[in-house]
Amino acid sequence: ATKSSARMLSTTKVACSKILKDSPNAYLNKSIINRYNKLKYDSRYVQATYVWIDGSGENLRLKDRVLDFVPSKAEDLPNWQYDGSSTYQALGGNSDCTLIPRALYRDPFKAGPNDVIVLCDTYKPDGSPTESNHRAAMQNAYDRTKDQEPWFGIEQEYTFLDTDGRPLGWPTAGFPGPQGPYYCGVGAEKVVARDIVEAHAVACLYAGVQFAGTNAEVMPAQWEFQVGPALGMKCADDIWMARYILWRVAEDFGVVVTFDPKPMEGNWNGAGGHCNFSTNKMRADGGMEEIKRAVEKLSKRHDKHIKAYDPRGGKDNARRLLGALETSSIDKFSWGIADRGTSVRIPRGVANANKGYLEDRRPSSNCDPYSVCNAILTTCLLDE
Ligand code: ADP
Ligand code: MN
Ligand code: MN
Ligand code: MN
Ligand code: MN
Repeated sequence: ATKSSARMLSTTKVACSKILKDSPNAYLNKSIINRYNKLKYDSRYVQATYVWIDGSGENLRLKDRVLDFVPSKAEDLPNWQYDGSSTYQALGGNSDCTLIPRALYRDPFKAGPNDVIVLCDTYKPDGSPTESNHRAAMQNAYDRTKDQEPWFGIEQEYTFLDTDGRPLGWPTAGFPGPQGPYYCGVGAEKVVARDIVEAHAVACLYAGVQFAGTNAEVMPAQWEFQVGPALGMKCADDIWMARYILWRVAEDFGVVVTFDPKPMEGNWNGAGGHCNFSTNKMRADGGMEEIKRAVEKLSKRHDKHIKAYDPRGGKDNARRLLGALETSSIDKFSWGIADRGTSVRIPRGVANANKGYLEDRRPSSNCDPYSVCNAILTTCLLDE
């Protein structure tokens, strides 16, 4: 167990490079496990993978537990303990933290037909949420705004890396040709590792994530998937589950996934987590008025939102929101119709229909979607 406190970790950049040299994951024979996955054991037993956000606020941990019943909702599963001193969430002396199951998914990886993955949030020994548990605050805000039926839809950009920390498929010395041909591209010289992207989509749909689509991004080895639109907690929960599934699928392929918002400095696009938002009033005829009211409120709380939109209080986004490469400036709020250089964009189709949703383009790709949705709910609907 490490002694470092959660606070120490939150100020330290967790390096994504050089985790393993020559990862064995891709070279292990993937079919040997089938000998074991064929074994039939007592069908009463179900394997449950408990997944939670660690003290970094951006990485996930998991451990498996065998149940002797088939759960049908998250509340059916028992709470569980873990060693918070090994996840940057507690100090050695009093390290038992509690996992509370919150969202249940079908497991696309294990062989048992009833195996599940359960997304949990985390609590300290005194019963209060851990520092990186931002779900609790969002749940509180959602409970007070339920009547407005808030929907979220999040676009998750990410980058594949080789185990040496370099974007997958990039020359070891030198760079690929300049950006232009890669976005939504096809062909071996334009996109990297589509197999992982397509396996991820299928696994997410199987799991019960409200998966909405994928596309290749502007920087080679960079991709995007979308989740939603979904009511309340569901989109943020599903983004975390989809991140877990992506890391897990890519692990099979021996490929590293980073959600860092600016994996390559210079003339290479960063990665975002655009958050699309609407309420029942915004979706109803003439909802544009309500959308503009929300934009007006957002314009007055720019600093609050920048603090909530990456895990380092704006430091990560400072590398990405440069006012270039399809981003706005980190210092100044802006909005516009169909303008991708703004903080908040109202899509062309929404303006034409005079109703719909707004897109907040500021969240970084490694944002905690609970913090992002919580900031939007408290600013736009609760005036906090
Ligand atoms: P773009 O790349 O043009 O910004 P995408 O198609 O990648 O757009 O993503 C659109 C996102 O908007 C999706 O995540 C979708 O779930 C979300 N969305 C669509 N309609 C709504 C709505 N009414 N409320 C909230 N989110 C929405
Ligand atoms: Mn143990
Ligand atoms: Mn998109
Ligand atoms: Mn995109
Ligand atoms: Mn977008």
